[in-house]
Amino acid sequence: MRALTISAHGSLDNIERRDDLPLPVPGPGEIRIRVLAAALNRLDLFVVGGLPGIHITPPWILGADAVGTIDGTDDLVVVNPGLSDGTCEFCRRGEQSLCVRFRLLGEHAQGTIAEYIVVPERNVARIPRDTPIPQAAAFTLTTLTAWRMLVTRAQLRPNENVLIQGIGGGVALAALQIAKQVGAHVWVTSSSDEKLARARALGADEAINYRTTDVAREIRSRTAKRGVDVVVDSVGEATWQSSLGALGKSGRLVTCGATSGPMVMTDARKLFWNQWTILGSTMGNDAEFETVANELRARRLLPPIDSVFDITEGRTAFARLASGAQFGKVVVRVNE
Ligand SMILES: [Zn+2]
Repeated sequence: MRALTISAHGSLDNIERRDDLPLPVPGPGEIRIRVLAAALNRLDLFVVGGLPGIHITPPWILGADAVGTIDGTDDLVVVNPGLSDGTCEFCRRGEQSLCVRFRLLGEHAQGTIAEYIVVPERNVARIPRDTPIPQAAAFTLTTLTAWRMLVTRAQLRPNENVLIQGIGGGVALAALQIAKQVGAHVWVTSSSDEKLARARALGADEAINYRTTDVAREIRSRTAKRGVDVVVDSVGEATWQSSLGALGKSGRLVTCGATSGPMVMTDARKLFWNQWTILGSTMGNDAEFETVANELRARRLLPPIDSVFDITEGRTAFARLASGAQFGKVVVRVNE
């Protein structure tokens, strides 16, 4: 079968389309999916480049997100990329993304950009047959991640002010849509005026170009020094100071990533004096997966799509993601 693979870590030149991979065979509790489309996430770039402690067995299939039909049926499903053991103390508590043996498709297990994939049956959610395929392919990882961040962890409430750093990426856009659905007042930042304009069109209330404006100072000035209630920061080093500078009293900062670098500095005096809460979040549990699947079934929170490539153009799709120029998700079409 056909798949998008790497055989060693390195540059995007290592990405190789193979046509000779064996059909995967489901084990107990698993099902085989005929993939229609997969979507790229920043995680996939990290996998290509190499991550500490991650060892791949070549040929390694890339990709974490997918939509397809259960093999031999017409049932359309999306895939939850998080694999958990179902037995550890966190799984027993229903917190699968805290599983001590948590793994992700494409990172610790063979990925989704392939004609056929095998996943545990509880990792799929059935969706209506007429769901738009690119949006379904691009839906799960970012929406699940953003949902857990804003709804479960930060407990965002109507009319609160939320700052989303770096609008244009998948998680940030999903967070924007979820925050608007909650009824919050949403601030977004970007270095691109074009991305800010597009975020406004999606409902962002306030947009700040961080290249030309001091984000924290601007937010303080526009909120009579109050600041925001919640910050969504997946950028890390480059934005941490402006995120904390914008955070008001009793504010919550929630992070799911550190794309610009992991080592951040927090002034402990400001942390206790303002009674801030700093929250980590990763992926989502099975209950949250079911909740966001219902949003997809109702055609809510559909992700903006930047571009769709055929699997024969896989390397170009990855280059689009690596460019940082995209607004929305990059999708790879696998089967018709
Ligand atoms: Zn577990």
